Amino acid sequence: MPLTEPDMNEVVGSHDLLLITLDTLRYDVAAELAATGRTPRLASRLPGGVWDERHAPGNFTYASHQAMFAGFLPTPAAPGPHRRLFAARFAGSETTAAGTYVFETPDLVSGLAAAGYHTVCVGGVGFFDKRGPLGSVLPGYFQESHWEPEFGVPSPTSFEAQIDRAEQVIAGLAPGRRLFLFVNVSALHQPNWFHLPGATREAGDSRASHAAALEYVDRHIDRLFDAVSGRGPAFAIVCSDHGTAYGDDGYTGHRLGHQAVWTVPYTHFFLEAP
Ligand SMILES: [Zn+2]
Repeated sequence: MPLTEPDMNEVVGSHDLLLITLDTLRYDVAAELAATGRTPRLASRLPGGVWDERHAPGNFTYASHQAMFAGFLPTPAAPGPHRRLFAARFAGSETTAAGTYVFETPDLVSGLAAAGYHTVCVGGVGFFDKRGPLGSVLPGYFQESHWEPEFGVPSPTSFEAQIDRAEQVIAGLAPGRRLFLFVNVSALHQPNWFHLPGATREAGDSRASHAAALEYVDRHIDRLFDAVSGRGPAFAIVCSDHGTAYGDDGYTGHRLGHQAVWTVPYTHFFLEAP
């Protein structure tokens, strides 16, 4: 079922915006878990209960987020052209259509700030850790950015800690102020073996522990949706930035060109008030 494409010119300004990247989540794992009832909270948000199959705009975190922040969200995995929800104004863009929100700045984050949004980043993986110049580039797009060690990839409770922070940010924001909240969820990224009951560090990460990490995210994600929708009307985009390989055709990891890496799950939907 193709996703309904809202007119983003009616959404921007009237709705809060939530962008969640489930970092490293593979499309096939997301689709399998949705179909077998293992991620009921996420599945309930998906039109028809299914993820949209898409192609990532980059094969690792930095490349993919730079592209997404420039308005290039994952592209439907079928011949296009496919119109975009957001696009910087530039002559000759073939994917800018009537329902596309066009911004005048180089990136979507500052474009939304110019439109009156308070822009907030809750980081997860290392490219958001603000510990050095490179880890400060992506958070630096936002007016407010947060990262703590407990949000990072080695933490078995990273997503809960990230949601705690998002709730605090929202509690401190003036009620009438529009919010653009970005959350980079680190739980899927390696290491993820500790999400699989009975797994050991020695056995390491696997497709099964990747799936268990998604189940962990699903157990908590409604709290994040409720925190945002409690402010008023909101539009959410949930997707992966790239997948990862677990020995597929001999490949391991990402930042490489393989179907397991370039195929990602994507969805968007309006958040109803809790
Ligand atoms: Zn990533």
